[in-house]
Parts: sequence; structure tokens; C-alpha cells
Amino acid sequence: MARSLFRLGGEACGWGCTAAWCRAPVAPACHLAPTGDAGKPRLVASRRAEDLPVSQTGAGRDRATANHAGAHGPAVRGWCPDAWRPMAAGDGLIVRVKPRLGRLSADDLAALGEAAIAHGNGLIDMTRRANLQIRGVRDDSWRPLLDRLLDLGLVDHDARREGARMMMVAPDWREGDDSHRIARQLLDRLDELPDLPGKMGFVIDAGAAPLLPGEAGDFRIERARDGGLILRAEGRAQGVPVDSGREVDALLALARWFVESDGARAGRMARHDAPLPDWATGTTEAAAPRPRPVPGAWDGGMAYGLPFGRIDARHLLDAPAMRLTPWRMLLAEGQLPGLCADAADPLIHVEACPGAPACPQASVETRDLARQLAPHVAGRLHVSGCAKGCASSMPADVVLTGRDGRYDLAFHARAGSAPVRPDLTATDLLAHFGAC
Ligand code: SF4
Repeated sequence: MARSLFRLGGEACGWGCTAAWCRAPVAPACHLAPTGDAGKPRLVASRRAEDLPVSQTGAGRDRATANHAGAHGPAVRGWCPDAWRPMAAGDGLIVRVKPRLGRLSADDLAALGEAAIAHGNGLIDMTRRANLQIRGVRDDSWRPLLDRLLDLGLVDHDARREGARMMMVAPDWREGDDSHRIARQLLDRLDELPDLPGKMGFVIDAGAAPLLPGEAGDFRIERARDGGLILRAEGRAQGVPVDSGREVDALLALARWFVESDGARAGRMARHDAPLPDWATGTTEAAAPRPRPVPGAWDGGMAYGLPFGRIDARHLLDAPAMRLTPWRMLLAEGQLPGLCADAADPLIHVEACPGAPACPQASVETRDLARQLAPHVAGRLHVSGCAKGCASSMPADVVLTGRDGRYDLAFHARAGSAPVRPDLTATDLLAHFGAC
């Protein structure tokens, strides 16, 4: 077995999951899996509580909620799902698709949209790692959906390689530029990667200046102030220059060092406090970041904001090729009528997780309230169903955090920050912001 990921008969699971209901051992790729279950989805625990692993049976649902949501606050998981390892949510399985180089052709998008309608509930979410998630997939639809995605080449036939393909690329790359070149080379060498903790990923940010400095990643290639490229370990302010053509060698070497220096114990590069080896230690600063694209025209077409990061799969059926971003925005290589290209639209400035009832950890509704408040809030609004703050880890101008069926109000803060006004109802908030 490529990774010792699954628990069987009391054996500890490599994901850290100890839930008795876990069906992960049915994984077709897991040699520990009992026979006769091949073809069933591997349900695995979600790192996002909105997608808590809820068994499709009622009893399992209760156990899952008890074990993972808990009574003591939101659960945090140490890995990400993918198409081979769907996760269960309140509306069915979620199947994640990780487009190579963050781009999907028009044909890919049409096929993906059709598959989401045929096998899911027709809703697709963008993730903060610039991936897509097909929602509402039934147990008996997962395998046909996976087969379709394999046929399309959107998912790797090797489940391990699919899992290892955790990569974010500056979304405005051009054919043959440094980001494109390095990302292609890394894709070609995924088999050389050691087994890494499940959430770890690579960031290839080699445009004229960085675009992704605050986005999730562990091993980074970034543009330096002097115009060269640097290798930078997440959590370290500076990096080390890397020769052109040797970037992937450097990334692989840093990943191997992470494993050999017991980084798996920390789980992420930023938490791994072992001194970097000399060859990875440098004092070179990344260049000042470029401004992100905003909804409207961009160099390659039109950028569209997706309120709450969600799109109806029908929009994809006639879409031009698109780049995915971690900012709930699509960079279309053309026009896509029906989506928001207006940077002034209030909903573009709102973050809201699914909240109740979709998420078992939420005690409050989120998105309807966010829609109502958005036109009345100056700056960024974040409505979070609980203190975990899945929708955004960044501070917002106005933050509402659900707690025990009410909302805590804070300003210039993150979800879960100490409130200025605690225990408010939705009616209180609508009145406070003049929305009713
Ligand atoms: S932030 Fe929202 S989605 Fe995340 S666990 Fe809390 S309620 Fe669920």
C-alpha cells in the first residue's frame, strides 16, 4: 500500500481518524480493505466541518457527528479529499477535481458540467486551493462519476498520484513561461515525491511578481525582488535562489528533507520548526506581490466572481476555457454571460460558509443573512456558522460568528474573534445595519 492511511480492526489510521464508523478501509486501492466492497466510495473525514464525514445511514450520521463535530468546537482535519476519496456532507458525497495547472478547456468544462448534473446535484463549489467540488453525489453514482472523470483525464488512474497532485499555480500563467514550465515538470515527477501529510501542497508562483503569497501551500517557488526565482519553505520569510531548470529538483529535495526530518509530526511546513538545511536556507526576499485580478476584464478574457464560491453546473456547458483561482473567482479565456463581472457587486465582498443546516457544526444560518446584509456593509463581510471560519482565514471588516444559535459581532477580525456585541439574532443584525 502506498500509504498507511486507513484503520482496520482498531489499527490507527494514518489520517488520525479514530471514528468507529469510518468506512475508509473499503478503498479499492487499500490492501487492508475487506474484499467485496470494491466499487464503494471511500468515505473519509473532511478537513472542513461543512463536509463532516456523515455516514449515509442515520445511525452512522449520529456517530459521525458525535465523534467529529463534538461538543467542544469545530473539528480540524489534516488532509484533503479527492475524487478517489470522496467525503460525505449533508447533501451527499463531495467529489473534488484538481485541474492540472488550474485550467480546464471548454470541452473539459462541458463534460464536467454534464457529469455534475448526471451524478451530483448540479452544484459545483470552488475551493480555496483552486479546485472544484461536485456536490450531492449519491453512493451509487460515485463510481460512474469517477469513471467518467478518469475517461476525461481529469483524475489520475493512480490514486496515490492523484492524492499527491496538490499544486497551486499562479492562474495567469502563459504557455512556456516559468510558472507553466515548472508546474509541468513537477506534474511529470510526482512519482518522485515522498509520502507527505495529506494537506501539504506546492505553490508555483513564478510570474512577474507573486500572486499567491497568502494562499495555502508548503513548498514554494516565487519570483524574487532581483527578478530570479527562489525556493521558500512556508513559514520562513525568505528563500534561497534557485537556478533556472533546477526548481523541481529543489522542491523535491525540500519535500524529502521534510519527511526525513520528521516533519510529518508537525503536519505542515509552517509548523515544522527544525532548522532548514543549509542549501535551503537563504535571505532572499520575494518580490512585492502583484494585485489580484478583480471581476471584470483581465489580460486573457473576463474574470468572474462566484458568490460563496458556488456555480450552477449548467453555466459550464457552454463556457470558454477557464482558470481557477483560490479567490472564488474564475478567469475565463473569453466571455461567460450570466456570471458576475462587476467588482462593485456587494456579494463579491462577502464570505459565508454553508452554515446551518448544511453543516453539522453550525448553529446559525449564514448565506441568506449574508445576502441581506451585503448591500449595507462597508468593506468585507464574513458570516461564519462557527468559530472555525472555513470560508476565510483572513480578517474582515465585519465578522459574524455563530455560537449557540446566535451571532457574535466583531470588526476587523477573524471568525471566532472576541466580539464587540455578542448574542445577536438575525433580526438584531438586520436592524443594526439598516437592512430592514
Ligand atoms: S465555519 Fe461554517 S462550514 Fe466551517 S465548521 Fe463552522 S459552520 Fe461549518
